[in-house]
Amino acid sequence: MNTTTSVPSKGLKATALGYPRIGPNRELKRALEAHWSGRLDAAGLQEAAASVRSGMLDDLALLDTVPTGTFSLYDHVLDTVVAVDALAPRHRRETELASYFAAARGDDAAVPLEMTKWFDTNYHYLVPEIGPETAFAAKPAKTVTEFVEAKERGLDARPVLLGPVSFLLLAKPSEDAPADFSPFDRLDDLVPVYVELLAALRHHGAGRIQLDEPALCADRTEAELAAVAAVYRRLGAEILVAGGYGPFGESLPVLLEAGVEGIALDLVRGRSDLEALEALDVSRETFFLAGVVDGRNIWRADLEKGAADLARLQRISDRVGVSSSSSLLHVPVDLDAEQELPEALFERLSFARQKLREIKAIADPEGSREARPEAPADWRDASVRERLAALDADADRRVPYPERQAAQAERVPLPPLPTTTIGSFPQTAELRNARAAHRRGLMIDADYKARMKAEVAAVIAEQEKLGLDVLVHGEPERNDMVQYFAEQLTGFATTAAGWVQSYGSRCVRPPILYADVTRQAPMTVEWTSYAQSLTEKPVKGMLTGPVTILAWSFVRDDQPLADTADQVALALRDEVADLEAAGTAIIQVDEPALRELLPVRAASRAAYRDWATRSFRIATSGVRPETSIHTHLCYSEFGEVIDAIAALDADVTSIEASRSKMEVLADLDRANYRSAVGPGVWDIHSPRVPAAEDMAEALRLAVDALGPERVWANPDCGLKTRRYEEVRPSLEGLVAAARAVREQL
Ligand code: GLN
Ligand code: ZN
Repeated sequence: MNTTTSVPSKGLKATALGYPRIGPNRELKRALEAHWSGRLDAAGLQEAAASVRSGMLDDLALLDTVPTGTFSLYDHVLDTVVAVDALAPRHRRETELASYFAAARGDDAAVPLEMTKWFDTNYHYLVPEIGPETAFAAKPAKTVTEFVEAKERGLDARPVLLGPVSFLLLAKPSEDAPADFSPFDRLDDLVPVYVELLAALRHHGAGRIQLDEPALCADRTEAELAAVAAVYRRLGAEILVAGGYGPFGESLPVLLEAGVEGIALDLVRGRSDLEALEALDVSRETFFLAGVVDGRNIWRADLEKGAADLARLQRISDRVGVSSSSSLLHVPVDLDAEQELPEALFERLSFARQKLREIKAIADPEGSREARPEAPADWRDASVRERLAALDADADRRVPYPERQAAQAERVPLPPLPTTTIGSFPQTAELRNARAAHRRGLMIDADYKARMKAEVAAVIAEQEKLGLDVLVHGEPERNDMVQYFAEQLTGFATTAAGWVQSYGSRCVRPPILYADVTRQAPMTVEWTSYAQSLTEKPVKGMLTGPVTILAWSFVRDDQPLADTADQVALALRDEVADLEAAGTAIIQVDEPALRELLPVRAASRAAYRDWATRSFRIATSGVRPETSIHTHLCYSEFGEVIDAIAALDADVTSIEASRSKMEVLADLDRANYRSAVGPGVWDIHSPRVPAAEDMAEALRLAVDALGPERVWANPDCGLKTRRYEEVRPSLEGLVAAARAVREQL
């Protein structure tokens, strides 16, 4: 093992809030999957994990102070569950490692913890289950080990833990908790455990300890803020509180008054905190980390701007350091792995390793302030901008839903409760192999196309046999619902190894949206038309919506997201027009990420809803009244986006509903949603084949809530992760259920 000693810098202290932990070549993913499949024992897994951590420290050693404990075998929230000994009894196994993975992934004996989105990112954390009886105890082994590892290499190490306030605010009540119980009620019981964790770290020589409190970047009640003050008064000296997901806002004065020693500011998304601080009476002894290097995106930092923000902060305090705005968890490890990117793009990018150098450069008063190169002029496309400017009056459908509905029913007569699917059919290993061979140049275009067409034909035949009413082509040609489009639109680049952890061992490789977006040629028409040529039944066209394309890409930061969304929408609008011209009567535009981009703060949400729904309408409003627009969203708790769903103005919306027993229908009604709904009646996230009678019962509930003319029968989501052995009987049951309910109407 090589040891690196950090060189004390002459400028300010440079650090980062956290670092990618899956390994530059996804080494941890491979080790995890080998372990889960029984090919690697626990010791082997721990060895691989130690090697990934060692690699993290090799990189981080460039900094003056390195964060430790931001490694995780699966998820840092689950690590915190373990650190406070709050594993649910159903997840306790013979070894700690087995318990950990039982909670993360479930096993024959127990369902796993629920997984949900981490703030407005595409990372998913495991939701702790906390009840009135949960007994907390300090288990400092992981945090201490990782701290000591770094310290023994001679590094100035700063342990990082998820703070107690956020831990409880991110938790959900355990199943047996009384209805009025909230995990946050347990704060007073949890804080002493944190006191012990901190003491264990201090015992091993830790100085300043970072407590991540991302929940303070969201709106908080007075009572919560009062609790924050009490907690941080009690946790005492040498604590650095980090947020990382926007401004602290009203939490900022609370933290200052509680006397926390240090605060890590997100000066990329939370710059308003800087102004707030200038207006507050702040002790010059308060330590601030200026989070000026973006931990959420992959663009080179504006070093001059960073230095200027730093100077502002130095006018407020004598103790200032420089860091990333959030953990670097959300960006890929190393730009130097990318050899195929256009040069002008490469020069403007910065991944985690490069960001460490930027932090260092900003911290050093004599550091280079070289500006990032200007974007080349040909990244702008005047025609796209002119077309968008001219579109204004045309961005909505002209005819209201009831009239459209009548025209659509005349064009495509369908029985009540029409049956359909969400788009994808099982992606078999054989299909994936064909795609990989084609990508590597081992399969010529013509053979690849023939293979995909054969698959489309098979999927059409399956659906005809099953008796579905509205068919799909099955999406065999799509590697991913965003990347497929990114590869065909200008303005996007894809990376070779730009992996980012999504959850556990799962990583995604988001495309980079760097320039004005245009569509060169139709992207999907050939597949849809081919499918339609094989059947008398209507075949749905299938597109991914603008918000989802943005949410699952790294997006240019030189213009508002809204403007970029409109450009993507315009390209999709052309695709929709071509599908319609080719005779497609039903076009589905999926927006599963509509909720993901919802701003963390309520005050920013109305503006988001406006641009997000407008971009969807730009994509879809060019069609004639008799062409039906469907959309699909894959979750059931709409909460803050329920109005947005109505504002999409689609003719049919398919949603996840099977787990929530159709409750979502009442919510849609309250939001004045008046068009048709396809509430999912089959939970495709489970390998279980649903009983036809259960699906019929769900459909009856939907008919009661909406009336028969507004209900479609479909699964919760696409079928690409399922096997035909499950798909065939499930869809047979779904068709039978719809027929049974129809007969009773
Ligand atoms: N049409 C896509 C599919 O069926 C939708 C996927 C999604 O909602 N995430 O796979
Ligand atoms: Zn879905």
